[in-house]
Amino acid sequence: MRILITGAAGFLGSHLSDRLIAEGHQVIGLDNFITGSPDNIAHLAGSENFIFYRRDVSEYIFVPGKVDAVLHFASPASPNPQSPTAYFNLPIQTMKAGALGTHHALGVAKANNARYLLASTSEIYGDPLVHPQSEDYSGNVDITGPRAVYDEAKRFAEALTLAYHRQHGVDTRIVRIFNTYGPRMDLEDGRALPNLLKQALLGQPLTVYGDGQQTRSFCYVDDLVEGIVRLLYSDEHMPVNIGNPVEMTLLQFAETINRLTANTAGITYVDARSSRDPQRRRPDITRAQNILGWQPKVDLEEGLRRTIPYFKEKLGLS
Ligand code: UDP
Repeated sequence: MRILITGAAGFLGSHLSDRLIAEGHQVIGLDNFITGSPDNIAHLAGSENFIFYRRDVSEYIFVPGKVDAVLHFASPASPNPQSPTAYFNLPIQTMKAGALGTHHALGVAKANNARYLLASTSEIYGDPLVHPQSEDYSGNVDITGPRAVYDEAKRFAEALTLAYHRQHGVDTRIVRIFNTYGPRMDLEDGRALPNLLKQALLGQPLTVYGDGQQTRSFCYVDDLVEGIVRLLYSDEHMPVNIGNPVEMTLLQFAETINRLTANTAGITYVDARSSRDPQRRRPDITRAQNILGWQPKVDLEEGLRRTIPYFKEKLGLS
């Protein structure tokens, strides 16, 4: 297939590009580099199966030649206000990537009679009142809260994707991605894993926000990519959660990182987020198991071991 990936220079977009090229497809990557990085795709330069255009998906997208699949992954995605690349600090770009970008990417799929896959997010569940989160839960999103620019853009994107499926018969899919980590994460994007792993490798105390009792479930990137590729090849049109269901508190997460990196600087509690920080998050992956035969294989310790060399290299420690 010739596959268009928006956000191809991002953390997930670049891993998807690698995987799909390895399977014999040709990837056309788009990115405007506001949160993605040329470093993430540098190794693909010169590959005849990777074509790259620097583009902003909130503008009209023109792709020469036939496209068989469109994967819309372009969006800022970090919620941490301390980071300049977080959606808090790019609120209009975030809404445009989710709204206009989704519309343009769907337009390409419709014009080409191509299959389409939208990268949605566990953020559409907001600060969930139902636990774990299954796809039929409609969420608890604060429309005017600090996360709304991302959450509402992705909710709109899902609704528009299903509108194109129902009205125009576009062959669409929606993946709801839960917290994911691995090599090529932006060390400065302010999320839990980059912050804490970077601090641990530098021998600093880990900044745990609040009391550290909020929970997350962290999925290693190769597992996530496997789930997305299976969804792309499937005929499932309704949203599917992909994430790791092993839930832990942020405190447990930080302690695991300190142990694996032999960091003795401990943990420091910081009041860095509003009360809107989702308190519990864990995917119900029953649909992914039943429809795609998918479940994650890489546990947190193994995933961290695979991620640490990348962080060391970026920090100049290797
Ligand atoms: N967090 C933390 N210390 C940090 C960065 C994040 O304790 O240095 C917490 C944050 O408050 C949240 C969790 O880690 O509860 C996950 O945050 P992340 O930014 O990775 O993504 P989110 O799951 O909130 O979308």
